Amino acid sequence: MSRSAEPLIELTGVSKRFGSVPVLQDIDLSVGRGEVVVVIGPSGAGKSTLCRAINGLETIDSGTVTIDGRPLPAEGRELARLRAEVGMVFQSFNLFAHHTVLGNVTLAPRRIRGHHQDEAERAARELLDRVGVVGQADKYPRELSGGQQQRVAIARALAMNPKAMLFDEPTSALDPEMINEVLEVMRQLAAEGMTMVVVTHEMGFARSAADRVVFMADGRIVEDRPPGEFFSGPHSPRARDFLAKVL
Ligand code: ADP
Ligand code: MG
Repeated sequence: MSRSAEPLIELTGVSKRFGSVPVLQDIDLSVGRGEVVVVIGPSGAGKSTLCRAINGLETIDSGTVTIDGRPLPAEGRELARLRAEVGMVFQSFNLFAHHTVLGNVTLAPRRIRGHHQDEAERAARELLDRVGVVGQADKYPRELSGGQQQRVAIARALAMNPKAMLFDEPTSALDPEMINEVLEVMRQLAAEGMTMVVVTHEMGFARSAADRVVFMADGRIVEDRPPGEFFSGPHSPRARDFLAKVL
């Protein structure tokens, strides 16, 4: 296989328990370069744990996670290096409250990548412009709306120049009128070719932006299909039941 055909993210036989509760059960998932995979499923399905396993925030009991052909180790420098290659955006924006917007976006490039202040700021302003909040650069997170904060969180993740981005319900904590401005930034990223794994309940986004929809229940991948197929007729009773509730 040529290198470019290699998946960027690959999970093979990944299992994880919390105590006696199986949370991920024998997960096989492959995400190609530039691919957008939307993960949906009921609460407790294991979607967040899956995201956390992909960038090593959660250890796994068995199986392997590889990022760009490199197996994710349980700890150490290689883990930190690979983790920096996968940006993550959470439901709660969790920006650093005591840093300005610009400070939030420049912190990791300066501390982890060793970029100079002016170089980091120039790159940060470009990213903030891309997500439409460059006018807020000198404000503190509490002075921004939820939608603006989440767009800053996206810019902060992008500042590390990641190979892929993980989004775990990025719009679930937002007021309805702010959901679209965040989804729009994500659509734009997808159109630019970013490799993305997106956990969301926004079915419109799944339909329009996903290359594949992965439906999870009880720690398993129940369906993994293109959105057109998935939404026009899911096969599994679990998926049918879920869609009846969210659509
Ligand atoms: P989802 O994101 O699909 O709602 P999660 O991955 O958050 O699902 O959780 C899957 C299951 O794992 C749930 O039953 C949840 O209660 C359990 N769980 C998640 N994190 C922990 C933890 N740190 N300790 C114990 N159980 C957990
Ligand atoms: Mg979750």
